[in-house]
Amino acid sequence: MPKAKYVFVTGGVSSSLGKGIISASLANLLQARGLKATIQKFDPYINVDPGTLNPYEHGECFVTDDGAETDLDLGHYERFLNVRTSQANNVTTGRIYQSVIQKERRGEFLGKTVQVIPHITNEIKDRMQQLGKTGDYDVVITEIGGTVGDIESLPYIEAVRQLRWEMGRENCIVIHLTLVPYLSAAAELKTKPTQHSVKTLMESGINADILVCRTEYELSESIRAKIALFCNVKPEAVIQSIDAKTIYDVPLLMHKEGLDRVVLETLALPDNLEPDLSRWKAFLFRHKNPKNHIRVGLVGKYVELQDSYKSILEAFIHAGAANEVKVEVVSIHSEQLSVDNCEVQLKGLHGLLVAPGFGSRGIEGKISAIKYVRENNIPFFGICLGMQMAVIEYARNVLGLAFANSTEMDEDTPHPVISLMDEQKNVENKGGTMRLGAWDCSLTAGSCAHGIYKTDDISERHRHRYELNNSYLGDLSKNGLKATGINPKTGLAEIVEIDAHPWFVGVQYHPEYKSTVLEPHPLFTAFVEACNNYANKKIN
Ligand code: GLN
Repeated sequence: MPKAKYVFVTGGVSSSLGKGIISASLANLLQARGLKATIQKFDPYINVDPGTLNPYEHGECFVTDDGAETDLDLGHYERFLNVRTSQANNVTTGRIYQSVIQKERRGEFLGKTVQVIPHITNEIKDRMQQLGKTGDYDVVITEIGGTVGDIESLPYIEAVRQLRWEMGRENCIVIHLTLVPYLSAAAELKTKPTQHSVKTLMESGINADILVCRTEYELSESIRAKIALFCNVKPEAVIQSIDAKTIYDVPLLMHKEGLDRVVLETLALPDNLEPDLSRWKAFLFRHKNPKNHIRVGLVGKYVELQDSYKSILEAFIHAGAANEVKVEVVSIHSEQLSVDNCEVQLKGLHGLLVAPGFGSRGIEGKISAIKYVRENNIPFFGICLGMQMAVIEYARNVLGLAFANSTEMDEDTPHPVISLMDEQKNVENKGGTMRLGAWDCSLTAGSCAHGIYKTDDISERHRHRYELNNSYLGDLSKNGLKATGINPKTGLAEIVEIDAHPWFVGVQYHPEYKSTVLEPHPLFTAFVEACNNYANKKIN
């Protein structure tokens, strides 16, 4: 079995330098050269997973097929690589400690004092090699969350140091991402923060092999030479990462800078083939040369935060390119919507997406917006909570059940059209207890969903506790809101749609998690197409 090689990506100077995008871009380039690459992320926080973190803390929570609630960078990995990630691709300090403490309780350490070194670092090292040991990958890229010098990152950096020593540097390299800031008063790019951050890494016994320098301006040859000399790397290993128009340009920019070449050389891997980036470039061409421009409203309660709906925004980019349309996503805070102002607030939109979410804040605004687009034949797409709100709106305004609600919002509602599944009723722990991960769904022949997916059975990812209450399904259906996707095991409704509307689809699952550059999600593609048709009709 060929041995996997390891690339670790650390960050210095500042957070938010884009380690996730650099890691994903490198993996993309290696994959385009025919290598099997995967990416994993190690997060130094103590939460067992980000599932319990609210979006203001950590952005979107990404869900994998195997039901792991993970960091949003895993979404980038899947979108860039078009391969699925799993629980093994995201590890937190909380999970490491949980596992070590469980082993200690089982007596597995045979009476030894359990310590950060070696017990925590050994656990980290085991997890770092877990995917590599499957034999499925040539290269495993590991992103270490946080910034070097942070107290909580130390065990990870120490684990990397030990692995490098055990495997040899040609099997295990470190890419360090830093910032080269521009000081306008001095009209100069400054290398000192990079030098200091490399020095901090060296204090932990790691000499970075490659430096990726985030910058707003081109790095001159002399700056590159200075960084190389003071930071102990070859000049060609100083890689400029200049601000890009779109994250999807980054693989091409990194290739131009030679990142993939220097990685292969440092890992002693052959560099005889040019990467095949033709499909990627074709996507970028369509993305950058749209034939039309549409405006889609995104209603949610975290819209002020870019990262909260990351996968939805990216899915729109993929679907926009597929349709050769620029999708302008207009964020609308659900708390700013009411029955009286929908016409004004939603003016000029060619479609509306009501986002996933938890809790009752802003739900009446979502319901008002759904009523408006339903009655005005504007394309509507509801995801998870968005689908649940569409059912409530229909029950209230078409079935005449004025107080219909979800028991999440009103436990005593006389018409619980959305309610808790029995197996959720006694759940007390919050972490990892929702209906999570991939579930099968059978589509009704002749439905809008069936026409879009072009298949009878699908599998999509879930993350919720509440469900459409089947005792209302008959009435909803008789009155025009049909369940056209059913979970074959549980009989739960996963998709609802309205025949008599140009495009009105609500899904209990999260299609956005599965959209990638090379395989845009069919529902997003169809929704964007419907919005585009609506926009064209308006113009005509
Ligand atoms: N709060 C709803 C539920 O738990 C919807 C969750 C979601 O939108 N992801 O069922």
